[in-house]
Amino acid sequence: MAFIHNVLEQPSYGWKDENGNLSKPTQGQILREFFSRLNIFKTKKNWLSFMSWMMVLTLSVFLMLFIFKYFSIKGLIIAFLYSMVVMGTHGTIWYHRYCTHGAYKFKNNFWRFFTQNLTLKIIPEEIYAISHHVHHALSDQPGDPYNAQGGFLYCFLADANHQPINRNMNEKEYQRCVTLMKHTGVSVNTYAQYQKWGSVANPFHAVVGVIANWAFWFTIFYLIGGVALGCAIFGAAGFWAVGVRTFNYEGHGKGEDKRRDGVDHNRKDMSVNQLWPGFVAGEWHNNHHLFPKSARSGFKPHQVDTAFYYIKFMSMIGAVSQYKDSKAQFIKEYITPFVKVKTEPVYCPKTGKQILVTD
Ligand SMILES: [Zn+2]
Ligand SMILES: [Zn+2]
Repeated sequence: MAFIHNVLEQPSYGWKDENGNLSKPTQGQILREFFSRLNIFKTKKNWLSFMSWMMVLTLSVFLMLFIFKYFSIKGLIIAFLYSMVVMGTHGTIWYHRYCTHGAYKFKNNFWRFFTQNLTLKIIPEEIYAISHHVHHALSDQPGDPYNAQGGFLYCFLADANHQPINRNMNEKEYQRCVTLMKHTGVSVNTYAQYQKWGSVANPFHAVVGVIANWAFWFTIFYLIGGVALGCAIFGAAGFWAVGVRTFNYEGHGKGEDKRRDGVDHNRKDMSVNQLWPGFVAGEWHNNHHLFPKSARSGFKPHQVDTAFYYIKFMSMIGAVSQYKDSKAQFIKEYITPFVKVKTEPVYCPKTGKQILVTD
């Protein structure tokens, strides 16, 4: 079996049924799997998923404090922008385009660290990046960790149920897994440590990294706007962490074929370009599946791409040493041929006169 088909830990209900089709678990099966995957008393190899959801739980306390104790309209606007635009765009810049697809390179490790920690750290890089390679290799097929045909809950709880790495890799396979993460700067486990902890990320470094990141940002926001601002932003980050888990279901048409002619040019999978994730985070998902290694996904004039603007800006100041931009290729392959067809003169076969084509 190819490495990429085996790099994730298979859920108890399996990826495929006996006929080779997607195994569709019931809501109860998904929930049971979820809680068993968070149970660190069952095995400490569950630590990463446990930590991830503990962070969400902790941030929800800040959200409650903001709503019931420190609420203000100004705070709500800041929270909204932070949750949607700042966290969303950062997710695209860091987890998606850098950690997974290596669409650009930093000049040095300082700028990598700077970009990594631009926002509150919530999602472990390994959970996102390794499984996302599988998502591209097996989009909308059994084994796709957030296969939209599995339903909303199948995708929503995917980070615990389907995205953690396989715990039974041999040393060679584990090293390949490490190679996928090396450029991110995440402190990785040795093979012996992996056998103990079940993850690429080193638990000690991961926990210290999150505590330092949160302490830094809370101090900054506290100094700017007191506890109220700290709660608004931390609560917003928690809101994003839950909201982002719905993206993969919607980004692949909620299990249906929602691709539109002239909008979703890629027809190899069910991904769709959606306005909201596009505008706030540069996630033009159908475009992205066409050119996954591109640092830009917004190719058309209205397709705002805030993540690309950051990468481009970083390139202008010398912090990013190179990036790939597939816009020209997209225009050449998917726009120009159709514009030509439209503007070429059409003649009536009977009269030989030119027919005016208005559309
Ligand atoms: Zn996708
Ligand atoms: Zn991708």
